[in-house]
Amino acid sequence: MRAVVFHEFGGLDVLRVEELEDPQPGPGEVVIDIAASALNHLDVDVREGISRFPIGLPHVLGIEVVGRISALGDGVGGWAVGDRVMPYLMDTCGRCRYCRTGRESLCLEPGFISFSTSGGYAEKLACSARHLMRVPDELTDEAAAALQIAFGTAWHMLFTRGGLRAGETVLVNSVGSGIGSAAVQLAHQAGATVIGTASSDEKLARAAELGMDHGVNHAAQDVADEVLRITEGRGADLAYEHVGGKLFQQALDSLCKDGRLVTCGAHAGEVVEFDIIPFFRTQKSVIGSFVYTREEVERCLELARRGKITPLVHRVFALDEAREAMATMERREHFGKLVLMP
Ligand SMILES: [Zn+2]
Repeated sequence: MRAVVFHEFGGLDVLRVEELEDPQPGPGEVVIDIAASALNHLDVDVREGISRFPIGLPHVLGIEVVGRISALGDGVGGWAVGDRVMPYLMDTCGRCRYCRTGRESLCLEPGFISFSTSGGYAEKLACSARHLMRVPDELTDEAAAALQIAFGTAWHMLFTRGGLRAGETVLVNSVGSGIGSAAVQLAHQAGATVIGTASSDEKLARAAELGMDHGVNHAAQDVADEVLRITEGRGADLAYEHVGGKLFQQALDSLCKDGRLVTCGAHAGEVVEFDIIPFFRTQKSVIGSFVYTREEVERCLELARRGKITPLVHRVFALDEAREAMATMERREHFGKLVLMP
């Protein structure tokens, strides 16, 4: 099979298209002929060697995959060659105290697609059959590939970790990103008032079409001042944060008393200061969020099947164009996901 491989950490120039052995399914595994694989910012950190995940070399990137089953390993039941599937990002153990209580994103011994299997920037992938999800016919390959991480992460952050309820106001940072635009759609569907931030008016206009009620251009406006003005001095109930750096403090300052900030990322600054005194006097909460459960993804697949949410695809690239696809992502000018289709 053809795959995009790197043998050393670094910039775009370490990526090579190479011919690799076809993967074979081990016991309990399937081989998927990959139809579409979405890019994620984590891919850049993995390629540069700064992801803080243990990454072996050589490495094939790509954690978000949709395709058709082309081979079944021993002991695989319930699946057939030709089924269109996506593997849940994590290969959880199924035995630890978190897996046994439906909180698999806390698994003590998780594998991950591309870290503990081969990756999605390729023609084929072998992975465990235990965590496959069926892709509804209503979704195209590229739309399905764009759904899991954006909407699964957004669901887990907004509802499971953030406790968002109808009638609340949520501040969504960076609405132009995959998880930002997904959060706008899910929060709008749930009956929340959505205030979004972005670095350009163009991205804010796109987010308004997805259900964002108010936009703040954080390159030109003070986020906390604007949120307080929009909420008539009250502040947001929930801040959906995944940027880090100064937007983290600004999101915290945008909250009402007893407000919650939920975070899952920090590309703009992984270590931040925040002022502890007003934080505890206003009884705010900062909540971490990581990945999502398979059930949460299945809920999002159902919403997408019914046309209630739309996975956004900015552009599709061929496997040979992986460098260009990653370069496009690193420029951060896209709205929606970038997808490789071998
Ligand atoms: Zn586990």
